[in-house]
Amino acid sequence: MLTKTKIYLSSPHMGGSEQKFVNEAFATNWIAPLGPNVNGFEADIKKYLGNNHHVAALSSGTSAIHLALQLLDVCKGDEVLCQSFTFSASANPIIYQGATPVFIDSESDTWNMSPELLEIAIKDRIEKYKKPKAIIAVHLYGMPYKANEINSIARKYNIPVVEDSAEALGSTYYNQKCGSLSDAGILSFNGNKIITTSGGGALVVKTQELKDKAVFLSTQARDNAPHYEHSSIGFNYRMSNVLAGIGRGQMEVLDDRVQARRNNFEFYKKNLSHFDGIKFLEEPDNFYSNRWITCIETESFEIREKIRLELLKDDIESRPLWKPMHMQPIFKDYLHFTNGTSENLFDKGLCLPSGSNLSQDDLDRILNNITNTLKL
Ligand SMILES: *Cc1c(COP(=O)(O)O)cnc(C)c1O
Repeated sequence: MLTKTKIYLSSPHMGGSEQKFVNEAFATNWIAPLGPNVNGFEADIKKYLGNNHHVAALSSGTSAIHLALQLLDVCKGDEVLCQSFTFSASANPIIYQGATPVFIDSESDTWNMSPELLEIAIKDRIEKYKKPKAIIAVHLYGMPYKANEINSIARKYNIPVVEDSAEALGSTYYNQKCGSLSDAGILSFNGNKIITTSGGGALVVKTQELKDKAVFLSTQARDNAPHYEHSSIGFNYRMSNVLAGIGRGQMEVLDDRVQARRNNFEFYKKNLSHFDGIKFLEEPDNFYSNRWITCIETESFEIREKIRLELLKDDIESRPLWKPMHMQPIFKDYLHFTNGTSENLFDKGLCLPSGSNLSQDDLDRILNNITNTLKL
């Protein structure tokens, strides 16, 4: 019998010219956290997002969130409101800063931060003389959050928004690119994201001055002097010129990657939505998701687990949706404003294999497996 290959949830997918840019880095000996690929990659992202934005290429999405909080002067004792339904990397930098997270639940139309709960939380914190220093909202699985609503609440109370767009490069909201919708946007190029540099990230800000400050902090905060002089604490967060070469190649194929992932979503939806109790997250009008991961919501925890374990037997990777931060052992004692949405999704939801390099045979194999389970 032919041995079947493992199918991953989301694996890297090179376009072809990555190697050329990496070879250039070797040929010119730019093997450092600066060089032509770093500048070129930043220029590519800036062009993609719109030229009124400024981009700093960094070592990870997590470091981008950390620097965003630095730029917003989030300090020890400050409170930061953060979407609870997300990956822990959205919230960890709050702790790095010695600040305190307050978690906000999602709404069912986008699975992202509920604008209603956000405002309730802000009012509560202001009443208790704890006005939040920042808001971290997340475009989870590529679906944009309600940026108009979130931004207008943020403006009303004068609180800046950090836009965690780690999963949403290529998504748009009213024709504006995700990552460019707030005071500080962050992107990730980790190995599982829609495009990758193996590991990497970027911070997107509104002024050259803020970008310069982010780059300064990301390269150990060296003052202008012939020796090493420091008047602030720096980080080693800049992107390597070798990895930025991979990023330049990946930017050439970003649109194709979005299309391929959207096609995966359409395939699953077309072939599974006739089963009672299998639900897909639809795009509200003017929301365009890159469909980084196709997720289904099943009828119960038991059915979700049955599907997941049957897939596993056939060497197909799937995964429950993100476990909300307010349920995580490390964060459960922090204040949270919840409505049951993310707990329900964690209970019943499943991420299906969604790589842009899945073949039709792979998709058919996944579909047959799920269909057999649901017919039982
Ligand atoms: C991947 C991810 C991050 C972190 O990005 P890294 O590049 O892995 O550090 C942050 N937030 C979300 C929602 C993510 O999915």
